[in-house]
Amino acid sequence: MKKPYRIVMLGRQGAGKGTQCSKLAATLGIVHISTGDMLRAALKTGSSYGLLAADYMERGELVPDMIILGIVHERLEANDCKVYGFVLDGFPRTLAQAQALDKFLEPEGIKLVINLDVPKEVVLERLSSRRVCTGCGRTYSILKAPMVDWSCDDCGEAVIQRNDDKPEAIARRLFLYDEVTSPLIEWFDQSGKLATVKGDEDFEVVAREITRVVDMVVT
Ligand code: AMP
Repeated sequence: MKKPYRIVMLGRQGAGKGTQCSKLAATLGIVHISTGDMLRAALKTGSSYGLLAADYMERGELVPDMIILGIVHERLEANDCKVYGFVLDGFPRTLAQAQALDKFLEPEGIKLVINLDVPKEVVLERLSSRRVCTGCGRTYSILKAPMVDWSCDDCGEAVIQRNDDKPEAIARRLFLYDEVTSPLIEWFDQSGKLATVKGDEDFEVVAREITRVVDMVVT
């Protein structure tokens, strides 16, 4: 793959996209763009689009394309993305977003789309047991709790269950993934950019397979 890398990571919520994208970004020296993290950060600082998005996020609904496209376009225009490249996590999630992404990146477009494939039953279990640090975002689970009283081992802030990891919101998010986002797998496959990686293995095994797929596109 000729640099800069331009990679999309698709996959159900709870498939491990966030942790795998962080690792991949560190390995390749590229930018990790998570639209979910950007929205949560915007909400924390009280920015206008964070506040606009908050209600959708709490209910597990998709934030309207108009808001998301503005944020992503601005981020992709930044110098680091242009120079080093990026991996997109949680975007695109709708056909309109995928088409807009093509336009943003004309003429070369995206180089590789990785479909991190994890069965629904597995992500359901992971999402329901997930707990997240309100300070640094570190992820825990009810099976792997922080050492002391639900305070983060790294920063000491409270570790909680995200509102959108509560049962009703999880059901809605997974439904929207099947209905609205998963058709993008076929869409990207038709343009010959898709590689599927089995995501329900050990973290390191999955990370190695992702790197192998990226390397294959390089050569
Ligand atoms: P995530 O952490 O990626 O699961 O995102 C958390 C929430 O942010 C989602 O449930 C949506 O409400 C919103 N969100 C993140 N990315 C997008 C996107 N590309 N399109 C619409 N909504 C998004």
